[in-house]
Amino acid sequence: MYKKTFTTPFSIYKKEALLRRLPASHPQRERIGQDLRIAYAGNQGERSLEFHLNFTRDDYLIFHDLRLPWINGYHFQIDLLLVSPFCIFILEVKHIAGKLYFDDTAQQLIRTNEDKEEVFPYPITQIHRHQHQLQDFLNRHAVPAIPIIPLVVSSKSSSLLQASSNAAHIFDSVVHSASLPFKINSLKNRFRTQILSQHQLDELSSLLLKNHTPLMTNELARYHLQEKQLIKGILCIRCTTPSMRREWGYWKCGRCGFQSIHAHIQSLIDYLLLIDHEITNKRFRDFTLLNSRSVTSKLLNVLPLKHHGTYKNRTYLLDFEKLSQLLDHDE
Ligand SMILES: [Zn+2]
Repeated sequence: MYKKTFTTPFSIYKKEALLRRLPASHPQRERIGQDLRIAYAGNQGERSLEFHLNFTRDDYLIFHDLRLPWINGYHFQIDLLLVSPFCIFILEVKHIAGKLYFDDTAQQLIRTNEDKEEVFPYPITQIHRHQHQLQDFLNRHAVPAIPIIPLVVSSKSSSLLQASSNAAHIFDSVVHSASLPFKINSLKNRFRTQILSQHQLDELSSLLLKNHTPLMTNELARYHLQEKQLIKGILCIRCTTPSMRREWGYWKCGRCGFQSIHAHIQSLIDYLLLIDHEITNKRFRDFTLLNSRSVTSKLLNVLPLKHHGTYKNRTYLLDFEKLSQLLDHDE
C-alpha cells in the first residue's frame, strides 16, 4: 500500500521552468537540458519499479523518495522505503546502462558503455550509510528496533552486473528490478518476529511523512543565472512565446491564437519554482509585464492561496499543488 506515491522531484519541475524562461540563444540551455535528461532517466528508473512492486505491495507500506533529517542539519534521501511489521527494506535505484562492475576493493562502481569507462559512487557504501542514518532516525524517535535491509536495484534491464572475484557476496544486496519482488520475498522469510503493531505502523508512517523535507534547490544560483535574464510575460502553452494578452476573462495568444483561462497560473508556478515561494501584486506585474494593478489583484485574489499583509501590501504564499491542480483543469 502506497503511503507516498511516485512523484516527480521539484528539481525536474525547476529545470523545465528554467528552459521555458531562458531565451533560446542562452549558452546555459544545453547544460540544463543535459541535466534534465539525466534527472528524467533517474525518475523513470524509480517509477519503473512500480510495476515490479505490484507483486509485494500488499505486504508493505511503500514510500517513494523520502528525504529525512539526520544530524547537524544534514538530510538523507531514500529512493524507496518498504515497511512491514517484521522488517524494513531500503531500496537505492540505479538507472545506469552498460556493464556495471562492482569493485569491492577500491569501493567504486565502474560503468563501461560503448568503450567508455566512468566511475560512480559505490552503491554498497551508499546503502549502508542510508541504513545507518535511518537506524539513527528511528532510535531518535523511539521506534522499536527493527531489522533494516538495504538493497541496490538496477532498473536498467539491459545492464550487465559484475563484481570483483572477492565480492560475489555483494549480489546478496544488488538485484535487477525484475527479480526484486522475489528477492524481497526470500529475504523477508528470515524475519518472522512481529516487531511493530498496526498502531505502531500507523505512527511510524505519520512520523516519516511529517519529517519528509523535499530538497529545495535554487536553480538560478546553480547555473549562475540572474532573475533579469529570464523571459518575462505570460507564456503561451502552445507556442511557448510570451504572447498571451488579456481578453474578456481569458488569455489569447497574439502569435498563434491559442486561448486559455489559466495561462497566468503557469507564470505563478514559474515564479515559485525559480524565484520565491511568495509574491506581491507588484512583483507579479514585473514578472508578467501586466499593466493593470486591479486586473492583477482580481487574478490573484480568486486563487486558493494563503496571504498576509494589508490589502495594498498583500503577499501571497504560492502553493505548488494547488496551482498545478488549476492548470490541470485548463481548457
Ligand atoms: Zn501561442
